[in-house]
Amino acid sequence: MVTRDAACTCGDLRLTLEGEPMLVSACCCTRCQRRTGSFFGVTAYFRPDQLIVREGISSTFQRSEGSATFHFCPHCGSSVLWMSDDWEDVIGVAGGAFADPTLPGPHRMTHAGTGHPFVTSPKGIPVYEDGPPE
Ligand SMILES: [Zn+2]
Ligand SMILES: [Zn+2]
Repeated sequence: MVTRDAACTCGDLRLTLEGEPMLVSACCCTRCQRRTGSFFGVTAYFRPDQLIVREGISSTFQRSEGSATFHFCPHCGSSVLWMSDDWEDVIGVAGGAFADPTLPGPHRMTHAGTGHPFVTSPKGIPVYEDGPPE
């Protein structure tokens, strides 16, 4: 089974995940833009039992709107993983933290309505103007 490592910029906070993500989602919401400093965020979602190694300490930020707890490296500040209050038994990992081109690309794009006009989605994936359908 494939394993991949995700890490913050400085490398102190690292994860090893086993198997493919259940979902990879790109999001153009303004919260993801501000959190990442990029024009969209990419999250790879895994079941908690797929997280087989976690090293390093993290600080947390609890976002109230779209409630989620983000774990970031207190040294370099990169967000590496998060848990949603609305979606139990799933952990989100920053797609870019893998720095691994074998990570599957996004299966969907959400909040395209607040995205920059030059951001386009990969061909053939569903694009939602707002959040994903329930
Ligand atoms: Zn770090
Ligand atoms: Zn978002």
